[in-house]
Amino acid sequence: MVQAAVANLGGQPVLILPEGTLRTTGKTAQKQNIAAAKAVADAVRTTLGPKGMDKMLVDSIGDIVITNDGVTILEEMEIEHPAAKMMVEIAKTQNEEVGDGTTTAVVIAGELLKRAEELLDQEIHPIVITKGFKIAKDEALKVLEEISIPVDIKDEEMLEKIAMTSMTGKSVEKASKYLAKLVVDAVLTVAEKRNGKIVIDTDNIKREKRHGGSVEETELVRGVVIDKEVVHPGMPKVVKNAKIALLDTALEIKETETEAKIQITSPDQLEAFLEQEERMLREMVEKIEKVGANVVFCQKGIDDLAQHYLAKKGILAVRRVKKSDMEKLAKATGGRIVTNLDDLSEEDLGHAKLVEERKVAGEEMVFVRECKNPKSVTILVRGSTEHVVDETDRAIEDAIGAVASAIELGKVLPGGGAPEIEVAKRLRKFAETLSGREQLAVNAFADALEIIPRSLAENAGLDPIDIIVELRATHEKGKVNYGVDLDEGKVVDMVKKGVIEPLKVKTQAIKSAAEAAEMILRIDDVIAASKLEKGSGPSTPETGGEE
Ligand code: ADP
Ligand code: MG
Repeated sequence: MVQAAVANLGGQPVLILPEGTLRTTGKTAQKQNIAAAKAVADAVRTTLGPKGMDKMLVDSIGDIVITNDGVTILEEMEIEHPAAKMMVEIAKTQNEEVGDGTTTAVVIAGELLKRAEELLDQEIHPIVITKGFKIAKDEALKVLEEISIPVDIKDEEMLEKIAMTSMTGKSVEKASKYLAKLVVDAVLTVAEKRNGKIVIDTDNIKREKRHGGSVEETELVRGVVIDKEVVHPGMPKVVKNAKIALLDTALEIKETETEAKIQITSPDQLEAFLEQEERMLREMVEKIEKVGANVVFCQKGIDDLAQHYLAKKGILAVRRVKKSDMEKLAKATGGRIVTNLDDLSEEDLGHAKLVEERKVAGEEMVFVRECKNPKSVTILVRGSTEHVVDETDRAIEDAIGAVASAIELGKVLPGGGAPEIEVAKRLRKFAETLSGREQLAVNAFADALEIIPRSLAENAGLDPIDIIVELRATHEKGKVNYGVDLDEGKVVDMVKKGVIEPLKVKTQAIKSAAEAAEMILRIDDVIAASKLEKGSGPSTPETGGEE
């Protein structure tokens, strides 16, 4: 039922919207939105869990991404439908808030809408459904909190299990124990105590990617890895007990400065001018040497002559370092970025046990290693091909997010569908205390959560009905931590099996899934302006690569 926006005034139609506007209202609008959102959820559902499949995405210029990561898939899909886009937003929010659980959030949202559609078909008003969903969501969050297990920052074994759980399913599973240790080490290194609370800024864990080599060659550098080479061949490639100057000023003579002052008319003058330039550069280098620096990272350029002087003094220098890397260097080495060379003093220098240039897969990189108390570290991600490196990088990103969030909140949950089954069970009991129609909505919410263990089982080739029945029966007996063991096809204690997730992954997933479902259900009118003609807008030139 697509209708034009027309009101009727005594038989005379009155247009209230511009021509070409597409308007869908009522049930049709709801159905279409739900269908679009469900399609998004279906697209990622087969990737859920350790046995989930991967997706291969090919973009318009032929670049390929192979991944199991929910948010990556959705970002690459270039989704257009507005309701479908709201589902993509869930994944993005989840990724920003927790860094893991993106597929879970989208799959739950899709299932909530599917269940809601059944209620709509039974003539239950969307407002009743959304109200019921809201009640159910609040109750679900309460239950999750209740069944959560405390975790201590010192319990590294537990933290490693969390990292491993979040990495399973990504193709790096073989190396997951090794990577889990590395991730926990990285997170613990950058963890800081502020006002008695542990805070982890995951931006302080830099990831640098290099293909060639194996995933097991991925390493944690207690410091920074800079994708640059030492600027002059005469400089040392290795400096022990490095004292590092961080400069945000060029070691060059600015042309404008000299041009304005000197007009050269004779060879003598030229010589004098060059001598002066030489002297100025030499003084710059002497200044650096005087404060005791033996390594220089410069955000700007370094003149050839300055390079030569630095090399003669045995100082290792790198030029045109990215601003973000300079900031990481400051955090890792305890140094201060200096913008005026005259201000440089010994206190500004950063420290590292070792600075070295090394070839990684055929290209030079500079490593700043073994900083004393680095508040910024780097993971050098390795793997045989670009695709492997990218997927390893995404796995590491998820694991960092999971470990950080487990530490910050100090609470975890068993995985493998255990919390979803437990919450569903308690929601059904809770629903009994409510009035008829809301009860239906809360029960629908409970049923929807079971999509997680069901999909986990399905993706592992197990019979989902058998598994759900057994899970429900086990939870009825009070075994809260029991979930599905996908290798054995049995229901087991997930904590004992070491499948553990941070509480926040689940609370955030349920929260954003419920909120997105509510939002989509409240829409009963979609008014879409007619699309701009191709080439008429400033942003779509006719020669654009779009098909
Ligand atoms: P998401 O993007 O939601 O994190 P994943 O593909 O990482 O999706 O799957 C996460 C789900 O897989 C969680 O429900 C988690 O409990 C479950 N899971 C992870 N490892 C295991 C395992 N070894 N056995 C059973 N379930 C697991
Ligand atoms: Mg995950």
